[in-house]
Amino acid sequence: MTLSVRPKVYSLPSYSLTGDLLGYLRCGLQYRYTRIGKLPASRPVQQWFGEFIHGVLEEAFRRYRDSVLKGSPSLPPWPSADLDDIRMLIKARLGARGLFAWSPDLEQLGDDRAYAAVQDLGPHLFPLIYRAEVRLTGARLLPPIQSQLQFRVADRYEMVGVVDVVTHVQLADPALAANPIVGALKSHLGQGLPPSFEVIIDYKGMRRPPVPKVGAKNSLWTQYEWQLQTYGELRRTQSDAQTVVAGVLLYVNEFHPTRRDLELLKDEMAAGTTDVPPIGGSADEAALKNWKTRDKQLPQLSFEYRLSRALRVVPITPASIAQALTSFDGVVHDIETCRGREVHGHPVLQAWTKNSTEEDTCVVCDSRTFCPDYQAKYARKHNETQPRLPAIKSVP
Ligand code: SF4
Repeated sequence: MTLSVRPKVYSLPSYSLTGDLLGYLRCGLQYRYTRIGKLPASRPVQQWFGEFIHGVLEEAFRRYRDSVLKGSPSLPPWPSADLDDIRMLIKARLGARGLFAWSPDLEQLGDDRAYAAVQDLGPHLFPLIYRAEVRLTGARLLPPIQSQLQFRVADRYEMVGVVDVVTHVQLADPALAANPIVGALKSHLGQGLPPSFEVIIDYKGMRRPPVPKVGAKNSLWTQYEWQLQTYGELRRTQSDAQTVVAGVLLYVNEFHPTRRDLELLKDEMAAGTTDVPPIGGSADEAALKNWKTRDKQLPQLSFEYRLSRALRVVPITPASIAQALTSFDGVVHDIETCRGREVHGHPVLQAWTKNSTEEDTCVVCDSRTFCPDYQAKYARKHNETQPRLPAIKSVP
């Protein structure tokens, strides 16, 4: 009798949707240094901002839920002192991890945005929340890479993600009849919604981007859509899930736009590149059109318009899920290929793809001083050419 040999034990490679897959899509080389190499960013501005807003919204919801459990539901708007308390708590938590606002102006902007998000959005969002910070996992077949680059024994990879909010919506619930978020869902998703369903919400600490040009590759617009579709698939397999009909990207900056945000919005309105311009003839349209960017005062936009810009509803269907999963499998294939090149002796700078398409990403990247792509594309423009070693001029 032949006894079979026990296969070697191996651990599944694990890929997080935001940290790994979206990180690699932003730039492979940057991902290699910051995520795999764990090099901390020298100016973690975006990280502080994103985590601060997430933290404030999560803590505010926790306090609302406590009030519900105690039998005296208390929805925002709350007294300013309550918001101050939440903001200080989150700043202390971030500070304990070494994350601080980069400047007083940035801190003030974070405070103002967090205030607007809780006070304006909270009353409509919190009653819909079923669970917050929901961890999702699933396994997929590991796409094969070229045999000469193979470096591990694994036939599957783990895909992980954390959904900011899972909402449960019962259309027949009279308490939700006037809810503007439910209204936005109904108008985007049309007829045929089940009586009760789920929507996944992901907060984004950014303004609503313009719609990318047709055929544009590597756009954040599409990548965030893949993220929602994949969340939808991973959530579908959990035991307490209802039918997931859509995902929503919630662009938090839209609740408190800066001067720069409004300048960009005006440009996009003129160029026809935003999918949510103000309604023709509305007070919002007049406010934006009459506003000169040199004016000291910023135009005041209605809550309805700011909410419509903040919400991007993405229907989740079996076909759209399949397309997103295939796309992310392709990203995993690319990461494994880069890893394989490095394991097989290629220098890091050659092994990893430098696929950043956004100048803004490169300008704040800590690798720009030695990245050949930055040196070739942007260094001269930003007066940051590589330092040269002293040399001896040869005499003819
Ligand atoms: S400078 Fe740009 S291309 Fe180079 S590693 Fe950084 S993000 Fe990537």
